[in-house]
Amino acid sequence: MNEFELIRRYFQRPPKRALLGVGDDCALLRPDAGLDLAVSTDLLIEGRHFLPGAEPRALGHKALAVNLSDLAAMGATPRWVTLALALPAADAAWLEPFSAGFYALAERYGVDLIGGDTTRGAARAICVTAIGEVPPGMALERSGARPGDDIWVSGELGGAALGLAHPEIAEAAKRLHLPEPRVELGERLRRLAHCAIDVSDGLAGDLGHIAERSGVSASVEYERIPRSSSFAKLKAPELEKDCVLSGGDDYELAFTAPREHRAELEALGAELKLALTRVGTIEAGSGLHILDAKGRPLAHRGGFDHFKNQK
Ligand code: ADP
Ligand code: MG
Repeated sequence: MNEFELIRRYFQRPPKRALLGVGDDCALLRPDAGLDLAVSTDLLIEGRHFLPGAEPRALGHKALAVNLSDLAAMGATPRWVTLALALPAADAAWLEPFSAGFYALAERYGVDLIGGDTTRGAARAICVTAIGEVPPGMALERSGARPGDDIWVSGELGGAALGLAHPEIAEAAKRLHLPEPRVELGERLRRLAHCAIDVSDGLAGDLGHIAERSGVSASVEYERIPRSSSFAKLKAPELEKDCVLSGGDDYELAFTAPREHRAELEALGAELKLALTRVGTIEAGSGLHILDAKGRPLAHRGGFDHFKNQK
């Protein structure tokens, strides 16, 4: 199979919303008139972001999911994606399930794969760029948090990091390998939230970004953070704290919203069948403050940094 057969076989399905998709020098897009475009890129490298033996169907899902999650955190509706791949070989046994996992998620959200690049490389690398649309002025920037806002978190945290430490816990392993991007939630938050971020590097790190960019203080009550039910059985409080506060890869949304929207947000969670939990508040000041049940500061490891501890 040569490069062009590979593309035709695995990555060329007719687009639904693009003027021109895979097969030319460029794709051609016509955004809805007056909408802003939101653009995000994520690079996944074998050995760093996924293990060499990672299941290819799950990897196809996750490579797209992490990008749709970034669009959701901006309040954007995903429309188009490109996919750049480096592969050691044109291996049908890997490409077939990878492509199936990628398209299964893309089709669920009406997202078109409109182009990319494919090359041989020593290790696998997967780079997805996602483009979404958002009404002007409605994007949920990290700088939007205001004193008096509640801090909310969707779903449960810590499961993905637990899946890395304990791959035998099926529920946690699923959270790690098959994250669900909170696309509908992101769209609905445009009107209700002041700012949002997806929890990709751990809640502590990600809320720290919001506090810094918004010029405010964020206080979170540790016990209120919703977490995977597997932790209750495990009885490993240090691991639990590490996963819940500093574990990456959960791809839930953390967001801040004015108190007046509490009832509407609770109704939204019920409608989307997705738990939305209030975990803290934004105040004047600076920094992120994680507090125990008695309001005392809780020591933690912070968020994930790809360049920390490098040799
Ligand atoms: P070019 O030489 O202009 O870079 P290529 O020969 O690399 O074009 O690619 C041919 C077509 O296939 C282009 O439309 C490109 O966007 C698309 N393409 C290449 N690799 C992928 C991929 N992995 N997924 C989707 N589209 C791809
Ligand atoms: Mg090319």
